[in-house]
Amino acid sequence: MTSPSEERQLLADADRRALSYFDGIANRPVFPTPAAIADLKAFEQAPPEHGMAAEDVLRRLDEIGSPATVASNGPRYFGFVIGATLPAAAAAERMVLAWDQCASSFDNSPAADTLERIAGRWVCELLGLPTQSAVGFGTSATACTLACLSAARRKLLASKGWDFDGDGLVGAPEVRVVVSASCHITVKKALRILGFGVNRLIVAPTDGEGRVDPQQLPALDDMTILCLQAGEVNTGEFDPFAELIPRAKAAGAWVHVDGAFGLWARASSSAHLAAGVELADSWTTDGHKWLNTPYDGAMAICRDAEALATAMNSDAAYATASKDAQKNLTLEFSRRARGVAIWAALSSLGRAGLREMIDRHIRQAGHLASSLRAQGYQVLNRAVLNQVLVRADNDEQTVAIRQAAQASGQVWFGPTLWQGRPAFRLSVSSWRTSDADIQVLIELLGELKHSIPA
Ligand SMILES: *Cc1c(COP(=O)(O)O)cnc(C)c1O
Repeated sequence: MTSPSEERQLLADADRRALSYFDGIANRPVFPTPAAIADLKAFEQAPPEHGMAAEDVLRRLDEIGSPATVASNGPRYFGFVIGATLPAAAAAERMVLAWDQCASSFDNSPAADTLERIAGRWVCELLGLPTQSAVGFGTSATACTLACLSAARRKLLASKGWDFDGDGLVGAPEVRVVVSASCHITVKKALRILGFGVNRLIVAPTDGEGRVDPQQLPALDDMTILCLQAGEVNTGEFDPFAELIPRAKAAGAWVHVDGAFGLWARASSSAHLAAGVELADSWTTDGHKWLNTPYDGAMAICRDAEALATAMNSDAAYATASKDAQKNLTLEFSRRARGVAIWAALSSLGRAGLREMIDRHIRQAGHLASSLRAQGYQVLNRAVLNQVLVRADNDEQTVAIRQAAQASGQVWFGPTLWQGRPAFRLSVSSWRTSDADIQVLIELLGELKHSIPA
């Protein structure tokens, strides 16, 4: 048995190690060195028969694990859309760990239930979404999209008198799904898992920026789910909601919007980019991307609160709860209080701080795009948001420059294919990224463009 004082000492050691890791975050290689990765082999063991002292567990974790981490919590990580964690959110997360709550309902944790209810309302207000919406805090945009789409299907079937919960799908009227040609792979994954069949999805063609083209929108009716997108992963572009959603609603369709990162533009001075998104029926967004909160904090937001609460209901004789209890709004039954860090982030930023952070990233991405163009790069998107999509003079040079940048340890960003050819993608989404960090990236890419021949 570990004594209370030993436990205290262990946690203090963990805090000390965490702080020392944190102190080095700006100076470590952004991607771990090959040697640090090779050292991970030390973890490859059979499960120990006899446990080791907890302080040794921690020491191994830190000494072998820490050097092989990616500094995505640092200032010069430009991959995917991975924000760092805001200080208030990181601190709140430590409290949540100390509390160790099961945040499934008020009875499990009055504090978590209250804070998540408030965080949900704030998110709706800050993103300009209907405030009566149900907000479930799930693990990911993937899981939250799955929750929203299952609510959508259940509701459309109920409108035809079909009891989905009782009778499932055999013999049910068909629910058709229309997806953007550039919809995120995780939306397709959610649809596939729900049994919609990827070959049966109806694809809405997109324009050169990855936005659904209203002229080519497939026919919609009252048994259709239309999946739109706020923030295409490569271009950061938005579907023309103000034009598309009223048409879909007039036809009786359900409109779901994947806004994993892009929905946060609604809290910025560029909110006009997502005008009309509030007219949809459901939305998913992540805290762990552009809001800069820890993993795994995402939200399923559903205008018809009852539709989500019935689709996700998990009341049992021993565990009944209010309709808006989190266990009735997400896939999880037992869950940690993941909304608390979101509450903390929003509390520390305020409306003005949130707007300032998103505006700053959009400004930095714009500067990055124009500087790279001036260096002779092709910037393939309009760079209206925080994503910059780039190519060098030919495919070989594009790939070689990305690999050299990754190997430099100074920055990290990932590859993509755009219209069938290699490109790389720079995402500005960390509160820690200063203008000087953007300058480091620009100068590095400038040097590589000269030193690596086309
Ligand atoms: C990241 C992302 C997702 C998936 O989000 P997870 O939280 O990683 O599941 C979905 N859509 C878009 C546009 C994304 O950028």
